[in-house]
Amino acid sequence: MKSSEKIVIIGSSVAAISAIETIREKNKNLLITVITKDKDLFYSRPLISHINLTDGQRYYRDKNFFRKNNVNLVFGEAIIVKNDSVILKNRKNIKFSKLLLAVGGKPIIPDVKGINGKNVFTLTTKVDADNIKKFCKNKKHVVVIGCGMIGIKAAEFLKCLGLDVSIVELMNRPFASVLDDKSGKIIADEIKKHTKLILNNSVSEIKENQCILKNGEKILADIVICAIGVVPNTDIAEKSGIKVNCGIAVDSQMRTSKKNVYAAGDCVESLDILKCEKRPLPIWPIAFRQGAVAGSNIIGGDARYDGSFVRNSVNVFGLPLITLGLSNEKAGEEIVNSSEKLKVYKKVIVKDGKIIGAIFIGDISRAGIFTGMIKDGIDVSNFKNEIFSENFGYIYVPKEFRSKEVLPIEI
Ligand SMILES: Cc1cc2nc3c(=O)[nH]c(=O)nc-3n(C[C@H](O)[C@H](O)[C@H](O)COP(=O)(O)OP(=O)(O)OC[C@H]3O[C@@H](n4cnc5c(N)ncnc54)[C@H](O)[C@@H]3O)c2cc1C
Repeated sequence: MKSSEKIVIIGSSVAAISAIETIREKNKNLLITVITKDKDLFYSRPLISHINLTDGQRYYRDKNFFRKNNVNLVFGEAIIVKNDSVILKNRKNIKFSKLLLAVGGKPIIPDVKGINGKNVFTLTTKVDADNIKKFCKNKKHVVVIGCGMIGIKAAEFLKCLGLDVSIVELMNRPFASVLDDKSGKIIADEIKKHTKLILNNSVSEIKENQCILKNGEKILADIVICAIGVVPNTDIAEKSGIKVNCGIAVDSQMRTSKKNVYAAGDCVESLDILKCEKRPLPIWPIAFRQGAVAGSNIIGGDARYDGSFVRNSVNVFGLPLITLGLSNEKAGEEIVNSSEKLKVYKKVIVKDGKIIGAIFIGDISRAGIFTGMIKDGIDVSNFKNEIFSENFGYIYVPKEFRSKEVLPIEI
């Protein structure tokens, strides 16, 4: 890239930061402008629900990151890309030579009567968490809609703030997209020790102090948190004529359909190497990697993003849970090791000699080795029966892969 050219990035979260770091490793001088609608910068989104953190734990880059990296910061909301300019809501026009869309995801809002009430919140930004905290003062009952990753974090958050929490989940178990019936029951039993958990049901109406469920049941609700998931934020791409499928469409170099425009992070559709299809994979380490690939290619590199798989790591009221890949699909041989007494459940699914999914509850000690084995497609046929033995470890993994342990982000 010529030194007069200008890189513009929309978004200031992990995909953006990773792109900036990659660019600055190679080039200290290129003009970089970040447009963001975040008011608070560099906070870890996965940690917004943890209330007793120090700033050192909550923020993953220091507050002078942009100044130190010579980045021009514009606060505002980008609306559309026209030719070689980004147009902001305040009509400001910012020209670019190369543009990166790192606009993340947005919460799914169900079509429920009362959903726009002032007692209804989502929980995906620090502003959301701060608003919830303020609203909760002198309130008693909260209903969380959805029992996935964000729902469980919301439930713990509100429990810590002293509220009575009810969770309403449409499916017959929590984390239904990644847990099987058995592990779902273990997690459900744990949740029930701390909150009311209503399964196989949904909220059909929200009133000021109560929710009415699909089966007619009424539950007290001074506040409602809508946590049924996130979808890629494709608003700008759609308005700008950039190709969108189930996220912004990108090639392995993170290029969109529009010349000189790249995209990375939760806003794109990514290759799931286990399903062999493209779909949203909205997790932190993937956004980080994609941001780095985009950053490298924006300045003329030849980096590739060759796909990944879903990983979840969460503590459910103190009980550690990790899922990897196609963890709830009946797609292969299941190797299970569990102890009700120890509250441990571990399952690995092996198909055609390779691990395609895994669930770890209670004992997550070797989950990193399994993550690496899935990623590298290691043939486990010769040692699959040893997988849960006491001695199992790197010694079983072919030498050339042993240094590649990759844990899902532990939050
Ligand atoms: C509550 C919660 C818990 C999570 N827990 C985990 C976890 O445990 N492990 C894990 O791996 N992942 C977790 N995630 C997911 C993880 O946070 C995301 O994968 C990651 O933040 C994606 O980064 P990103 O840079 O793609 O986008 P985001 O972090 O979503 O950031 C998007 C950026 O774009 C900006 N933006 C959007 N639209 C515009 C616009 N029009 N104009 C200007 N700026 C705009 C926003 O202000 C923001 O700066 C969690 C997410 C949430 C919400």
